[in-house]
Order: sequence, then structure tokens, then C-alpha cells
Amino acid sequence: MSDRTWSSRALVLSLSTFGEGHRDAKLLTEDRGIVQAAVFGGAKSKLKGLVNPWHTGTVWIYSDPVKNHHKITDFDVSEWRQGIRESLARTFAASVCTEIVTRSHGVADWTLVNAFLDGIAVSSDDECRRALNRFLWRILHSAGIAPDLSCCSRCGRGMSGENGESTVSYYSPHEEAVLCADCARPEERSVPLSIEARSWLLAVERLPPSRSRAWKCDPREETEIRRFLRFLVSRHFGGELKTLNAAEGIL
Ligand SMILES: [Zn+2]
Repeated sequence: MSDRTWSSRALVLSLSTFGEGHRDAKLLTEDRGIVQAAVFGGAKSKLKGLVNPWHTGTVWIYSDPVKNHHKITDFDVSEWRQGIRESLARTFAASVCTEIVTRSHGVADWTLVNAFLDGIAVSSDDECRRALNRFLWRILHSAGIAPDLSCCSRCGRGMSGENGESTVSYYSPHEEAVLCADCARPEERSVPLSIEARSWLLAVERLPPSRSRAWKCDPREETEIRRFLRFLVSRHFGGELKTLNAAEGIL
């Protein structure tokens, strides 16, 4: 292999077209973060069938250091995830994942991203919704910006409802922290979190995925969780996600 040719594990995030039917692929690589690379060839070329969104495999790339240009020479797909295209909820969830990885400039955790896509490719619409919530919470954790849900950040008390503690809490955007009902001022109550919603998030944070997947919550709590996560995600990734807005009512 010449040193201008290299290979890596890679996930195809998106495709764009340029020139006469040529395509550019945006890849999340395991070793080099996000790489934009051209996919040449006619409509029937083998590469075109392989380099498609949400496929993961080993990619071979030729890089021209003078032109700072990359070209995919081969792609050996190991995860096809064809199920993603079979439902709107799965496709939207995968698109949210793509937007987050792109906005995070590729620092999103490789294993987390691929495990999420593997999961939603075979999930029901309801399960897709919950999987997306788990994914967003884990991404926020891995980025180090998830607030501590175990106690009130102002008075330090727990929020379990025992010994006179409150059960409802509020996320304060100003403090980027969770406050108990005794501490939260009226203007700090726009993002409420019930004890059930907080327990669900703590389960995702603390339990292995096989156990947190089984942790159920009702639709009202799910709405709270979704609202809280969307708030944090928009804040962290520089504005509302287009894909989350487009998926309103589906995810
Ligand atoms: Zn408090």
C-alpha cells in the first residue's frame, strides 16, 4: 500500500452529488474523525452500491496531499442496516444521529454511534423513539455536558421524595443544573423533570444497555425526557437540530 492510500473502519454519514453524477461521501472514520471523499464511477458502479448512508465497513482511500483531496477506492461493507430504510421513524432517528455526528465534528463516540444504528435498524417505531432518547443522553454524557440528576445543585439534597424531599425537579438552563422544587424560582421552572423521568435517565446512565433497554416509562414521562434532551442537545450543538424538527410527530 502506498502511503497515499490508507484504510480505516468507516461509517457513511451522507452523500452529495457533484459534476456529472459523481458523489462525495461524508464518512465518520474510526481513526481520523470525519473525512469527505469522492466516490467516482457511473450509475452501475460497484462502489455506488456500497457507499450509502449508514453502511459501516472498511474503507480504502487514496489521498492527494497537494490537492488535499480524498477518493474512495474500495469499501468492504460489514453492517448494511437495510432495515433503517424500511420505516420513517428509523430513517429519521438515523438522520438525527448523522446530524449530531456532523455537528460534533466527528468527536461522537464510534462504538456508541454504530451500536445505536445497529439497534434502530431492527426496532419498532416506539422502540426507536426510546433508543433515540437513550442515545442523546449517552452522547451528552460522553461529551461531559450532562447535568447531575442525583441531587439538587443548589441545596445538595436528594430528590427521591423521602424525608420530605421533593420529587419534581427542574432543569435550569441558566445554571445548567437540576434544582429541587424548594430551590427553583418560578422563572426556573420551564423544563420540569418528574422523579420517574429522572429515574429513567439515571438508569440509562448507570445500567448496562441490556438492562436500561428494559426500563419502561409512560408517555407523559417520555414527553418530559424528550423535551429535556432536545433542550440540552440544541444548546450543546449550536442550535436546534433540523432533523429533530423535521421528525416532530414521528419521533
Ligand atoms: Zn434544592
